[in-house]
Amino acid sequence: MLKVGITGGIGSGKTTVCQIFEVLGIPVFYADAIAKEVMYADENLRNEIISAFGKASYNLDSSLNRKHIAEIVFNNDNKLETLNALVHPAVFRAFDNWVLKQKAPYVIKEAALLFESGSYHMCDYSILVTAPEAIKILRVIKRDHLKESDVRLRMDRQLDDQEKEKLSDFTVLNDENLLLIPQVLALHEQFIAINPVLA
Ligand code: ATP
Repeated sequence: MLKVGITGGIGSGKTTVCQIFEVLGIPVFYADAIAKEVMYADENLRNEIISAFGKASYNLDSSLNRKHIAEIVFNNDNKLETLNALVHPAVFRAFDNWVLKQKAPYVIKEAALLFESGSYHMCDYSILVTAPEAIKILRVIKRDHLKESDVRLRMDRQLDDQEKEKLSDFTVLNDENLLLIPQVLALHEQFIAINPVLA
């Protein structure tokens, strides 16, 4: 199965791009959503998180205590690395299992940390969604009701687009000027041409 990774900075529009691929019938694995799911559902991972971050990592109803974890990792890169080292392999396993169940010419994995997590090594191609910084900030302020300074803090924690571009095979520019759908269609046609089975 041909695997395509999609990433992009906060507010770049990677989910929006993935939704267009879904309309074209391409299955999308949303790694960040699945990460939250496995932190709840994967028993081994739960135990590892409790060992690393304490019993307070889970609430009495077994849901993840996001506030507790966020407080620990937000300003501590070592702790964030520890958390990622536990969660990423569980997400990789979930992706492998999910891929086996898909029937499509190719599948997409959307991940904010596609490059940082090393997960792009498991994809045949990678796409970077980009947008000018000012547009990304405005989108996130509007969507998440955050202050500009908070959006910038989150952005500062991600690899910048120049670094990501070096690792990407394709780029989608989502600047609300260049049309998005034709860019996605062109990529779709390329992937179908590579793997015409089931198209
Ligand atoms: P994050 O990593 O922060 O979750 P993302 O890269 O997945 O962000 P989206 O959620 O797709 O980005 O887009 C961010 C916001 O910008 C959303 O509210 C989305 O509807 C809006 N948006 C994205 N692309 C466009 C566009 N081309 N025109 C107008 N609004 C857009």
